[in-house]
Amino acid sequence: MVIKNVSLDIVCGITSKLPDTNRPEVAFAGKSNVGKSSLINGLMNRKSLARTSAQPGKTQTINFYNINEAMYLVDLPGYGYAKVSQSEKEKWGKMIERYLHTSKNLKAVFLLIDIRHDPSANDKMMYDWILNNGYEPIIIATKLDKLKRSQIQKNIKAIKEGLKLSKDGIIIPFSAETKQGRDEIWALIDELTGL
Ligand code: GDP
Repeated sequence: MVIKNVSLDIVCGITSKLPDTNRPEVAFAGKSNVGKSSLINGLMNRKSLARTSAQPGKTQTINFYNINEAMYLVDLPGYGYAKVSQSEKEKWGKMIERYLHTSKNLKAVFLLIDIRHDPSANDKMMYDWILNNGYEPIIIATKLDKLKRSQIQKNIKAIKEGLKLSKDGIIIPFSAETKQGRDEIWALIDELTGL
């Protein structure tokens, strides 16, 4: 995808009606601080259009970024803030699930995991939600530049095992610093959206 123009078109809160965009969508999920904003900014060639690390307790929204008037990158709320109340967590969870369940145009869901860490209980739950809504999660292992080359394969294997990824499950390492993985992710999005 050659990025010609991008804009934040739609912001949905917990009670908002979800839009029917009539354009292909791909969504990004992951725990807070995993590097989701950095990835989305990197994909859009922008420094800071996607929010970076919303503070705990701040409003969580689903953001739709319009790419070339052709498709949407959908930024789902980050999960896993320790300080947020259980009822608040449940609301976010319901919002994400509602989106996964109702979007007519959703073509794929990317789940971001920090390449340095084993998947958490929340990551595993998110993986199952995505799967149970009929999508095979595509894993992006973020912050690739933080690992030594010699550690990469071992950590990718640990993520695969932690999530019980299927044999042909996809995992793409990405660095927002070097942009390694960016072209591969776009090639996959282009293929999945038919653009
Ligand atoms: P979000 O909460 O998932 O949106 O995470 P952010 O994109 O805000 O990133 C959280 C922190 O990790 C920030 O300090 C980023 O600068 C840093 N970060 C994100 N991606 C990378 C990466 O690929 N490499 C490195 N070294 N740092 C990253």
